[in-house]
Amino acid sequence: MSFPEELLEMLLCPVCKNDLTLVQGRWLVCQRCQRRYPIREDGIAVLLISEGDHEGVAS
Ligand SMILES: [Zn+2]
Repeated sequence: MSFPEELLEMLLCPVCKNDLTLVQGRWLVCQRCQRRYPIREDGIAVLLISEGDHEGVAS
């Protein structure tokens, strides 16, 4: 199950309102504040500030 691109385009980082980038099909990453938000197994993105972290994603 892949995350729909049209939905990705609608989503913004709840912290800084920057665009989000899909990483590894399971994270939405904000390139500006380096937070990442998990995509649940049912395909719902969890855009909660408390769920984001600053660890970044290994590239
Ligand atoms: Zn951000």
